[in-house]
Amino acid sequence: MGLPVLQVHRDTDTRICAALTTVVNQDDVFANFLLVASHGDICTHGAGALTANADEVYVHNILVVGHEADAAICGQSHAGSAPTTEGSPDVFVGS
Ligand SMILES: [Zn+2]
Repeated sequence: MGLPVLQVHRDTDTRICAALTTVVNQDDVFANFLLVASHGDICTHGAGALTANADEVYVHNILVVGHEADAAICGQSHAGSAPTTEGSPDVFVGS
């Protein structure tokens, strides 16, 4: 039995409300050619800041987000929060 792992969450990966993650924290660290999401990145609904959950894995000193991660209230389109529903098929972080 190995350590718990999470699929790395990336720019354009989906949220439960059908929004897509929009990486705003950084512009040069990728997984599968998509920007790696980190704490506070939002989504296409304009809010829904992600809560990072990786175990000491950072991009530009900001903690990385793995699927499945919680997120803040999404905002304009509906009242709920926007947890992740997708991540990399083959890039993982410990949790
Ligand atoms: Zn939403």
